[in-house]
Amino acid sequence: MSSKKLILKYALKYPFLILLTFVLGCGAALFNGISTALIVPLLLGALSGNLLETGKAPGVLQHLMALFDNFSSQSKPFVMFGLVFLAIVLKNITGYFSSISSGHLSRCLANRMKLDGIRLLLDVDLDFYAKHKNGDIMSHLSYDLTQTAGTIQTGILIVRTVVSILTHLGILILISWQLTLISTGLLAIVFLCNQAFLNFSKNLGKEASEVSKKYSNKILEIIMANRLIRTVKTEHKEFQIAKKLTLYLENVQFRLQANDQAIAPINEVLGVIILLVIVLSGRHLFSGGTAVLLMTYLLVLYKLLPFVNNLNQARNQLAKRTFSIDVAADFLNRENKPFMVKHPQPHRYTQLEKGIAFENVSFSYPDSQQLILDGIDLWLPKGKTIALVGFSGAGKSTLADLLARFYDPSSGRITIDGIDLRDYDSTSYRSAMGIVSQDTFLFNNSVAHNITYGLDKVTNEQLIEAAKLANAYEFIMELPQGFDTQIGDRGVMLSGGQRQRLAIARALIRHPDILILDEATSALDTASERLVQQAIDKLCENRTILAIAHRLSTIEKAYQIAVMERGRIVELGSHSELLARHGYYARLYSLQFSDRASEANLSYR
Ligand code: ADP
Repeated sequence: MSSKKLILKYALKYPFLILLTFVLGCGAALFNGISTALIVPLLLGALSGNLLETGKAPGVLQHLMALFDNFSSQSKPFVMFGLVFLAIVLKNITGYFSSISSGHLSRCLANRMKLDGIRLLLDVDLDFYAKHKNGDIMSHLSYDLTQTAGTIQTGILIVRTVVSILTHLGILILISWQLTLISTGLLAIVFLCNQAFLNFSKNLGKEASEVSKKYSNKILEIIMANRLIRTVKTEHKEFQIAKKLTLYLENVQFRLQANDQAIAPINEVLGVIILLVIVLSGRHLFSGGTAVLLMTYLLVLYKLLPFVNNLNQARNQLAKRTFSIDVAADFLNRENKPFMVKHPQPHRYTQLEKGIAFENVSFSYPDSQQLILDGIDLWLPKGKTIALVGFSGAGKSTLADLLARFYDPSSGRITIDGIDLRDYDSTSYRSAMGIVSQDTFLFNNSVAHNITYGLDKVTNEQLIEAAKLANAYEFIMELPQGFDTQIGDRGVMLSGGQRQRLAIARALIRHPDILILDEATSALDTASERLVQQAIDKLCENRTILAIAHRLSTIEKAYQIAVMERGRIVELGSHSELLARHGYYARLYSLQFSDRASEANLSYR
């Protein structure tokens, strides 16, 4: 999606609000112009005395004055003043509501874009997260989308400012088109001069932001790699790099300041020159009543100048936002991201009857040619466990992710009771599935919230039962507020074993039909491991399990063990069958088990 299409797509979602903001904005600009236009005859009437009678005022102004001829000379100034006042009041009312509706529009657009962004983040395949930095995603959601939404507001502001400029220019032309030609030419020179400074400062700003990013990264590196720097004795080298960056940054900032500071004085000097030229030309042009006409002209010009300045600023803002708009368009574009294909008539998953089959399943991650799984055939009957073993990178987690339907196979299929997994409604399927992995996510919330996350109606008894089965009840009761204790970011207040038992309780309370187990107890001490092991055993009772196995007990009890190597199943059978075969598994087993026999823990990852 191009940037323009993105803006148009979202703008079309709020046609009424955009129209209202536009009409109110133009109304404010017009009333502003009208109030200025009405001040002119008022001034002329009050100051010029017999200027009109002498016929020296421009013809159009005489017509304007003639509008008030029907009023007596006593009431004329009051009528004129009343009208000016009314126009100013109306300008401010429309201006106020225009600002309100434009702010509201911009927030509505930003919220709509953010919600679409959040929906996209919830829908997109996990692969997206593997390839994007969290910090970048956060910055797209908060900064770039807000900047993009503000573009429409800036666009309307530009139209409103242009209308104001045009109405004021119209009045100036009415007073003297020759003088307006001269002043427009002069203003154009100031405009171009300003533009050159702005361009220069934009480029310098970009350079400054890049250098400052490099500088912060270097400082962060010095802090993080502090031990390594000391070990390899590169302190001097690192200091020199940091010094060079510091001096470079100062140099850019100096140029930036020199450029910025030059704009105002140059503008002031140019302004005085313009004023002088206008006064001299005015003296020549208005042969009679010069002072009054010149004063009126300069008053209107004085009211016009801020609009030119506003227009400049708005254009500058738009230019600065261009980068964010491109980033937002890329972020919100669904076509360049991987999504699961949704089947129009999905089956509702109720319960596993026979078993799960992997039929010639191959898989490559999106945008990658490399085959991570290559022709996997596996049969997992109901109520049994298949243990996956193999070295790190063999494809075990990827196979488990396919069963959880985080990804779909590139070819082949996974069937549940003979029906393709893709044909099941993923909500009902996932609610029957439990996943206990090494990196369990815990919310910065209460223990109870973490266990019951995603469930609507859970009784206290169910919560306590799950905690007891997961061997978590005792330590929960020792926490200051029991189940209501807040456990901190990602559960920092808990030990590794406690966090795992909470994860098991979370799986248990959902009574999963199918279980994916990525058990890791190698990081735990023996006592914690025993508690976690008991909890896992409870969890595994009467369930269909795909386990990435690290532990001897899981492997020995497994219905079958699939040994994986580079995306293929190289051996398949029960523990004793595979040992008797004296093949890959037997070698792996003796290699790992000889080192760890005392721990009874087989860790291949
Ligand atoms: P295991 O669980 O056996 O250690 P994985 O399934 O985690 O193996 O990884 C298998 C291969 O897939 C590895 O080579 C890994 O680098 C690659 N891989 C994992 N995730 C991604 C991803 N999101 N994009 C591309 N390649 C990936």
